[in-house]
Amino acid sequence: MPTSEKEEIVLRGIAASPGVVHGPAFLFLQKELEIPSYEVSQENQGYELARFEQAILETRMQISAIRNEIAEELGDEEAQIFDAHLLVLDDKALLEETVLEVQNSGLNIEYCVHQVITRYLEAFSSIDDDYIKERVTDIRDVSRRLLRNLMGYADFSFKKLAQGRIIVSEDLTPSETACLDKGTVLAFVTDEGSRTSHTTIMARSIEVPAVVGLHDITQRVHSDDTILVDGYEGLVILNPTDERLHRYGQIKLEREHLQQIFQREASLPAETIDGHSIVLMSNIEGNEPPDQITRYGAQGVGLFRTESIFLRDQSFPGEEAQFKVYRHYVEELSPQPVIIRTLDLGGDKSGFGDYFPDNESNPFMGFRAIRFCLKHTDVFKDQLRAILRSSSYGKVKIMFPMISGLPELLAALGVLEEAKQELLSRGQAFDPHIRIGSMIEIPSAAYTADLLAEHCHFFSIGTNDLIQYMLAVDRVNDRIAHLYEPNHPAVIRMIKAVIDAGHKKGIPVGICGEMAGDPLYAPLLIGLGADDLSIAPVCLPEIKYLLRKVHKSEAEQLAAKVIEFGDSKTIFETLRKFYLDHVNQVNPNVS
Ligand code: PEP
Ligand code: MG
Repeated sequence: MPTSEKEEIVLRGIAASPGVVHGPAFLFLQKELEIPSYEVSQENQGYELARFEQAILETRMQISAIRNEIAEELGDEEAQIFDAHLLVLDDKALLEETVLEVQNSGLNIEYCVHQVITRYLEAFSSIDDDYIKERVTDIRDVSRRLLRNLMGYADFSFKKLAQGRIIVSEDLTPSETACLDKGTVLAFVTDEGSRTSHTTIMARSIEVPAVVGLHDITQRVHSDDTILVDGYEGLVILNPTDERLHRYGQIKLEREHLQQIFQREASLPAETIDGHSIVLMSNIEGNEPPDQITRYGAQGVGLFRTESIFLRDQSFPGEEAQFKVYRHYVEELSPQPVIIRTLDLGGDKSGFGDYFPDNESNPFMGFRAIRFCLKHTDVFKDQLRAILRSSSYGKVKIMFPMISGLPELLAALGVLEEAKQELLSRGQAFDPHIRIGSMIEIPSAAYTADLLAEHCHFFSIGTNDLIQYMLAVDRVNDRIAHLYEPNHPAVIRMIKAVIDAGHKKGIPVGICGEMAGDPLYAPLLIGLGADDLSIAPVCLPEIKYLLRKVHKSEAEQLAAKVIEFGDSKTIFETLRKFYLDHVNQVNPNVS
């Protein structure tokens, strides 16, 4: 049916990453496979076993192909995980048990495979042994692939996705998003997700338009349906009419024109009208070309989310591999600083490796970031040595995530000291005066900021987490996204308290959460006294443009007014009015 004959439907979600595109959908469903169960007569059991053999053959071929690809791209060591997967397919006991299950139960092969695998996983899961845990992950991965093959699902990899599709999914993990290629994928839209989930943050970093939190888009769209994605307003339009497409063609042009206006000022100084300098830096994920960071006008990197390197490779790269990546950015951006944050895996950024417990009931409050690093000091020290070594090629600072209080900061500093000693004994160079920062993203750290400030050189407030922990609102849960309020009076007061505590002890305080890149909040943060803002590169030109239209005293007055308000709505309206008063003359789309 031609597009125009189907009914047009407009769905509203959360604007996750800017851009307007339209094209064919690709439905990528990830929910647990529904395993069919039916009886098979004795004479047909041979057929079931032949299907089993065929599926094993296919699975082996697919895994070998991935293994070779990874070996070529990343080296043999990284590819070894797939050798372990191949071994699962050769496991004699597992194969024999499956054959017996078919013979004894008289049921179809998918069901029997699933039964046997479930028994294996249950038996292994209760054993607390690192080797066994690794095998559990291997068996789970391989059996999923085997079952998909048995059920006739096509082998899927984002890398093989046909050019120019819009991915429609329940949700994407940050590691899947990390593998998306801007040249291949037009956009993605998901049922779940929020503005501060790491999937969304990565979408902005790779500049792929996205709308999330659409609740049921996977129920409404089929592969190859035409959809239009408006990542600015958070709209998805199914079967857009010709009129709608025409109108969006114009909106796209207007947006591009606006972006050009912002971009024209990108290389000008980041300062208010009255000449007050502000440091504007970039948040990066380690896959952005360094010249893109400078093109958008950043004065260095304020937050390098290093875990993205791990997620993209689905492995723990060692010291040498990390050193190469860090050095690349440090050298290319020198003399601008690069603030490298140590690993923040866990929360919504796990799902690979065997260090992480499966199904933590509360992952954002679980085994995450510095908690993980202080437990696995081998992984932590590999990273610290790599960062330290990169510091002799430019200006590097180290930042610890998820610090909850002084003992944790001191423990992290202790491991850093050991890493320094190891480099000294190896005779390898690093900056002996390297600056150390603590992220302030847990309320307990915010309340003890005066104590933490005694032991570090700077603070960076991670508002994404600070808000979720202060307001008890899961940052990735679309059902309560309306309760995730950066404009909550408590959040604004807390930010002010941390800035004041840092300044009292003579250290600078920056903001690196998504609030810093939001034009509504950037003037407020400057008015509250923030020394620097670290922002997704693509959002930076607009923030610079806006701040160059503002007097520092106006921003301070705004902050002084807002901090007195007791309700989020009044705060929001006040910020919105301030924004409109300053940029409406050039932004036709703001209303
Ligand atoms: C934050 O929490 O605000 C932050 C910048 O860190 P992340 O989003 O990576 O958790
Ligand atoms: Mg955080």
